[in-house]
Amino acid sequence: MIAPAHKLNARRLAALTATCALTSLALTALAACGSQSAPGAGSRDRTARTTVSAPPRPATLAPGPAGLTPVFKNAPRTPASTTPTVALTFDADMTADQGPRAAAGERFDNPALVRTLRREKVPATFFMTGRWAEEYPAQARSIGRDPLFEVANHSYSHYAFTDRCYGLPTVPASRMRADMERAFAAFRKAGVEHQVPYFRFPGGCYDKRSLRALAPGGVTAVQWDVVSGDAFATDADAVARQVLDGVRPGSVVVMHCTRSAAPTTERALRTIIPELRERGFRFVRVSEQIRAAGARG
Ligand SMILES: [Zn+2]
Repeated sequence: MIAPAHKLNARRLAALTATCALTSLALTALAACGSQSAPGAGSRDRTARTTVSAPPRPATLAPGPAGLTPVFKNAPRTPASTTPTVALTFDADMTADQGPRAAAGERFDNPALVRTLRREKVPATFFMTGRWAEEYPAQARSIGRDPLFEVANHSYSHYAFTDRCYGLPTVPASRMRADMERAFAAFRKAGVEHQVPYFRFPGGCYDKRSLRALAPGGVTAVQWDVVSGDAFATDADAVARQVLDGVRPGSVVVMHCTRSAAPTTERALRTIIPELRERGFRFVRVSEQIRAAGARG
């Protein structure tokens, strides 16, 4: 847990699960990921929906089957005649037990990445853990008050919301919603203003139970259709290639805003941003894509 993360190349990462790029050591550090876990079907449970107490309410999807938390993956594929959109998303990962590592000098933030997005005027959605916001409150506030960006929830602890998720410690079902709300509270405390009711499961791992547990919170779960492979990557060109090969109109790309575990992401962006613009893509935040997907509200 204290040891440095293993290095994996993007090719191997892709081979691992076609999605998630994790070593056993990295598991608790950064569940980059793309689990293909699917919610169960056919539940008769009816879970009452209430609204999250404080966050503003941008567009969300209607509840899924049996009132479960809805899951968004990508926007509708637009016809060639319209401007295609792509949402770059950045997981700001820090787990609840990484405080000692941060105290020892490990950096879970990535200010250069944020600067590049600002310089290039690229809208983006940050999926932040509550623990990250506590460690870097000034950065959380700065990101969360920049109209370019929106801050979504990646749990407080970055522990798993399913029984098995790349070796991450597990959040009991009875604590899942509280873990999510604790992150929203951490954002508010840091001064984040552009908070959105979207939740990304650590490791991308979810099931019917976790979708049910979060349903009263009124969030939309956000997955992705393009895995950047930036977790523990050392070759920025390989990351850029993987993104550029994967993006289609309406895509959601998962990347990381965590220097220690995704050190090449900012460099990869310097290739990805101009190339996607050259192809005619418009960068948008996830909220715009959810609206396009037929959101309510
Ligand atoms: Zn994560």
